[in-house]
Amino acid sequence: MPTQVFFKGQFVPVEQAKIGVMTHAFNYGTAVFEGIRGYWNAAHEQLYIFRLHEHNERLLRSGRLLRMQISYSAADIDGLIIELMRREQYRTNTYIRPLIYKTDEIIGVRLHDLHDDLTIFATPYGRYIEKEEGASLCVSSWRRNDDNALPPRGKVAGGYVNSALIKTDAQLKGFDDAIVLNQDGHVSEGSAQNLFIVRNGKLITTPITANILEGITRDTVLELARAELGLTTEIRDIDRSELYLAQEVFLCGTGVQIAAVTSIDHYAIDTGRIGPITQEMRELYFRVVNGEVAKYRHWCTPVYEK
Ligand code: PMP
Repeated sequence: MPTQVFFKGQFVPVEQAKIGVMTHAFNYGTAVFEGIRGYWNAAHEQLYIFRLHEHNERLLRSGRLLRMQISYSAADIDGLIIELMRREQYRTNTYIRPLIYKTDEIIGVRLHDLHDDLTIFATPYGRYIEKEEGASLCVSSWRRNDDNALPPRGKVAGGYVNSALIKTDAQLKGFDDAIVLNQDGHVSEGSAQNLFIVRNGKLITTPITANILEGITRDTVLELARAELGLTTEIRDIDRSELYLAQEVFLCGTGVQIAAVTSIDHYAIDTGRIGPITQEMRELYFRVVNGEVAKYRHWCTPVYEK
C-alpha cells in the first residue's frame, strides 16, 4: 500500500488523499491515467522506472483528448514521480499511477469549463496475470471501444469499463483473459494489453488504427525484435482465425509484461506451450527493464542517487 500520495499540489499521507462524492471524474469517468513500472535491481541497489517520460507524455496526450489543462509538463511529472518514489523508499517492484482528473463538484456532463488536477500514487506490485508463461484466453463477445465513440488511444478512466466487461466475462467463463475485436471484426488487442502473433517466423501486431492503446511495451517489443532478435516485424490487421493458427501469441503491456498465450477459445497455440520467440523476448525484456542492458539503459530512470 502507498503511504504518501501527490495530491492537490503536495505530498500528503495517503489517508488525506480523498475526493468528494460529487467529483466530476468519479461521476463521469473524466480522468486519464498511466500505469508505469518501477523495477528493483538488488545487485545495482537501484529502482529503475521504465520509460517514465514516454508514459508522462502519453498521459498529457490523453489529457488533451479530454481538453484538460494542467500546469505540469511531462518533465515536471517525471520529477514528481521520482520524488514520490524516494519518499516511499521503495526497494521492490512497484506500479506507479499518475492521474489527471476533472475535480469540479458539479452536475453536468461535459469537458469544457472545468478544472483539472494531477494526483500520483505508487504501490508494490508483482504479476498482473498469474500464468505469464502460458495463459488461456478467449475472443471476447464484447467489442473494443471505437475511436469515434470513446477513443482507446487515450487512456481514459471511463473507457476502462470496456476492459472490465471483457476481463470479467472471460474470467467467469474460466479463461485468464480475453482478446477483443474492433468494430470491423478484426483483432484489436487484449483487454488491457497489446497483442503479437508469430506466423511464418514473422512477428505481427495490429496497427494503431485498430482501436488499440498505442502501447509503450508494444513499441519496446518492436524495437527489440528488430534490433536484437533480428526478426521481421509486420504491422497490419489480424483476423480472428489467424489467432488460432499462429505459431505463437503473446500479450504485452506494462502490467502484463510479456505473457505467453498458449490457448485461445480452447485451440492450443501450436504445441500449447510457450514458443521460442516469446521465450526469448521475455528474457530480453526482463533484462532491459531491470537496467541490465547498457544499450537500453536510457529507458530506465534511476530513482536513487549513487
Ligand atoms: N492496451 C490497453 C487497453 C492498455 O490498458 C494497456 C496498458 N496500459 C496496453 C494496451 C499496454 O500499454 P503499455 O505497454 O503502454 O502499458
